[in-house]
Amino acid sequence: MGTKKLNAGIYIHIPFCVKKCAYCDFPSFPANEEMKHRYVSALIYEIEHRRWPYEIENIPTIFIGGGTPSSLSVDELGRLIRAVKRTYHVLPNAEFTMEVNPKTVDKEKLIAIRQLGVNRLSIGLQSTIDEELRLLGRIHSFEDFLKTYDDAREAGFTNINFDIIYALPGQGLLSLEKTLRRVTELRPEHISAYSLIIEEGTRFYTLYGDDEKRRQKGERPIALPTEETERAMDRLTKEILEEAGYHRYEISNYARDGFECEHNKVYWTRGSYIGFGISAASLIGDIRCNNGLDMARYIEHGPDFEEHMLTRKEEVEEFMFLGLRMDRGISKKKFEKDLNIPYNDVYRETTDALIRDGLIEEDDDYIRLTEHGRDISNHVLAEFLI
Ligand code: SF4
Repeated sequence: MGTKKLNAGIYIHIPFCVKKCAYCDFPSFPANEEMKHRYVSALIYEIEHRRWPYEIENIPTIFIGGGTPSSLSVDELGRLIRAVKRTYHVLPNAEFTMEVNPKTVDKEKLIAIRQLGVNRLSIGLQSTIDEELRLLGRIHSFEDFLKTYDDAREAGFTNINFDIIYALPGQGLLSLEKTLRRVTELRPEHISAYSLIIEEGTRFYTLYGDDEKRRQKGERPIALPTEETERAMDRLTKEILEEAGYHRYEISNYARDGFECEHNKVYWTRGSYIGFGISAASLIGDIRCNNGLDMARYIEHGPDFEEHMLTRKEEVEEFMFLGLRMDRGISKKKFEKDLNIPYNDVYRETTDALIRDGLIEEDDDYIRLTEHGRDISNHVLAEFLI
């Protein structure tokens, strides 16, 4: 272990779900209680024995994600969280998020989760329209979601995120508007709104993969919204959420004042984080680690991981790619301090060209995407590849 000391967020991956959703390509699958128990034991082993290239001093954020972490019993969650707390120094005011899906928790379980120290919940809603939830292959109705949300408030959670997805097959602006209005009435502290991506290997890819290819070629898709509609959906989302008091601070994330997700900001600002469990990624200083996906191996022998010291080029590109996702953009001063290279030496020409095209804007310190730049963010971000 090196002598350098770092603060790092913790991510723990729980790869279990009751049933696979039609659009999901995350590492997640159904499992029985014995498998869950063995996986949690392997996680505890990794938490207690994994050595990092630098010493981890404090933990400012924890995020238990998946999969469906709430599909674990309170006993298993308790074993896991106690292992984190006895191994690492978790700051007393740390943000501690857990992902929860409706129909996997009740009020009693949420009270127990709160007592374990979780202080932020991220609830997978996706849509308030039952027909869309069925299309997505979700296991819950909107009514089920409302029950979980009420239970979470009654259990004492005061920092709650809802996940929603738009640009669904057959979806129009009106149905998205209905979801957004219903969501804002419920006043969660944070809303993540992602546009659907048709990923290979999913049920949606079998159904809509050809349509997606059509759309990518600039042809008119049959079931999926056109690119133009998708952009209109993004603008509508911003408009309705801002009107309701949520500010956009990242391409897909909105928060009421004081409720931005600190853990995600660690990712976007290239802070250090350590990940446990299959498929978990870590960034510790300039070293990236990726855990393998093999569950049997993980349970029997611990993580199979690759460690890679980032090249300067990779660090510079990551800085821009991740930082420009945030609405405030990237700070040139921070770029120069973290990477020890003058910003203008690397990106002056690119920056000037993108400003001329109206895709980014610049002030004394910050560079950020314009509204138009955000519409075609993938194209703009690609310009920062060296
Ligand atoms: S609940 Fe989430 S992680 Fe699980 S299958 Fe559905 S989208 Fe994937």
